[in-house]
Amino acid sequence: MRDKAEVIYITNESSLGDFGMDGMNFGSKDGVVPSQMFTESLFQERGVKAILAAHVERVDPGVVHYELLDGTKGEQSFDFAMLLPPFRGVDLKAFDAEGTDITDEVFAPSGFMKVDADYSPKPYEQWEASDWPKTYQSVKYDNVWAAGIAFAPPHQMSRPQQSPNGTMIAPAPPRTGMPSGVIGRAVAKTIAERIKHGGAGKVHTASMAEMGAACIASAGTGWRDGKAAAMTVFPIIPDKQKYGQSGRDTKETYGEIGLSAHWMKVMLHHLFIYKAKARPFWYLIPE
Ligand SMILES: Cc1cc2nc3c(=O)[nH]c(=O)nc-3n(C[C@H](O)[C@H](O)[C@H](O)COP(=O)(O)OP(=O)(O)OC[C@H]3O[C@@H](n4cnc5c(N)ncnc54)[C@H](O)[C@@H]3O)c2cc1C
Repeated sequence: MRDKAEVIYITNESSLGDFGMDGMNFGSKDGVVPSQMFTESLFQERGVKAILAAHVERVDPGVVHYELLDGTKGEQSFDFAMLLPPFRGVDLKAFDAEGTDITDEVFAPSGFMKVDADYSPKPYEQWEASDWPKTYQSVKYDNVWAAGIAFAPPHQMSRPQQSPNGTMIAPAPPRTGMPSGVIGRAVAKTIAERIKHGGAGKVHTASMAEMGAACIASAGTGWRDGKAAAMTVFPIIPDKQKYGQSGRDTKETYGEIGLSAHWMKVMLHHLFIYKAKARPFWYLIPE
């Protein structure tokens, strides 16, 4: 199939390998490899074209219309397309006991719940790792938490960009399965403590600024010819004060592609399904 189809990747990322995380610097024995170089070479090898820094305005049958960062408009025809919807919450409404609409106090405009993050608007240069939440407790209620994907991030991780027409073109900060699971565990433990010991219960924390994440993206199937790109990042939120301009620990941040990552992906697939079914000793399997 692959040799019969032209594959085009359209993204609001300003460069390949940005991943909505402001890019990464992978440490290796030969030095530091930027995730841009890593991803560009993968796209090059596989003949995948990319349309970068693009805001999709509209999708008509067989054609997608987009605006680029320089304000120019373009369109791309297609036979088959998949489009990820804008990353936002489920737009729940909140009312207090008197029936007053308090949605703005409980949720951010993105629809995600406001928690213990620093939401004060500030430019990219002033973003800090400490802006990110630790306990995920609602700003409004002390018995409500927003774990995983549900919490409102304080800001993006990648530098936000705007076209001359005023269109924001910036990828949303990703919150993948691993941090979502770790955050969910911390919140569940906090709730258990609260039930057992009331207000004196221990509050568990899981800041994405102090946590790493791993991702394995399949790039081919088969026990002998399979391939996957394995990436780890530490910390998820760049911390320039601690790790310098790259914001991350290059010993703990690396990316590699090969057959072993494919095996790892297959193994994790079975382990996570085992865990989801809560089979014996499921809790020994990490997030
Ligand atoms: C296409 C895609 C591919 C991905 N691939 C990967 C990957 O390879 N690796 C990885 O680590 N992560 C991946 N992710 C991200 C990962 O799936 C999410 O980070 C993770 O599922 C978030 O977990 P969560 O529990 O916070 O939210 P969710 O898994 O979204 O769970 C939220 C739940 O709440 C329910 N819900 C919503 N509204 C209500 C309501 N009003 N009442 C009751 N229930 C409600 C929803 O039905 C849902 O079951 C991917 C995500 C997508 C979309």
